[in-house]
Amino acid sequence: MKKLVVSTGNEHKILEIREILHDLNIEVLSKNDIGLKELDVEEDGKTLEENSLKKARALSEKTDYMVIADDTGLFVNALNGEPGVYSSRYAGEDGNDKKNCEKLIKKLENVENRSAYFKTVIALITEDKEEIIAEGICRGKIGKEPKGQNGFGYDPLFIPEGYDKTFAELGHDIKNRISHRALALKELRKIIERL
Ligand code: IMP
Repeated sequence: MKKLVVSTGNEHKILEIREILHDLNIEVLSKNDIGLKELDVEEDGKTLEENSLKKARALSEKTDYMVIADDTGLFVNALNGEPGVYSSRYAGEDGNDKKNCEKLIKKLENVENRSAYFKTVIALITEDKEEIIAEGICRGKIGKEPKGQNGFGYDPLFIPEGYDKTFAELGHDIKNRISHRALALKELRKIIERL
């Protein structure tokens, strides 16, 4: 059975990837599963592509299996794409999801155009060291105040196109069908099927 190693220790991400690839006869492993728990790569790139490729390359240097690494950001149009690649650290290194959301609400005070999108980039490096990029985009807008209890990150603020509720209100089932990550994973699946 082919093996795919994911550059994360996050079990939720691993489970989501296993679910979407479940019928492809591929064993999905985390970096921890192959003894690389300590492998930590600084995400200092200027784009999601740079960061995901950097993480995938660092992992691919340590294993002969196929690997993937992902990076996600929220891009707000009225803020020239902020927080973008800095989404997890928007309120500073000591920040958290709540502080990040608070900062975003403040920045958008009295701003009319609230359109935004989430983008996920997944970098795949094959056993032959071929590099392939998959991406997924989910468009929507930023609410005026946090709503809902599900999810993480900016979910309480992000209202996807076609809905009038935030990701945090819509919950896992809907989010996992339409999210940036779900779309990027679907593209990844097609790429792996072709390989
Ligand atoms: P990561 O690349 O998956 O670690 O995501 C970077 C940051 O983007 C996270 O720390 C969150 O702040 C934000 N983010 C990523 N995915 C989502 C999502 O699905 N909902 C809300 N926020 C997200």
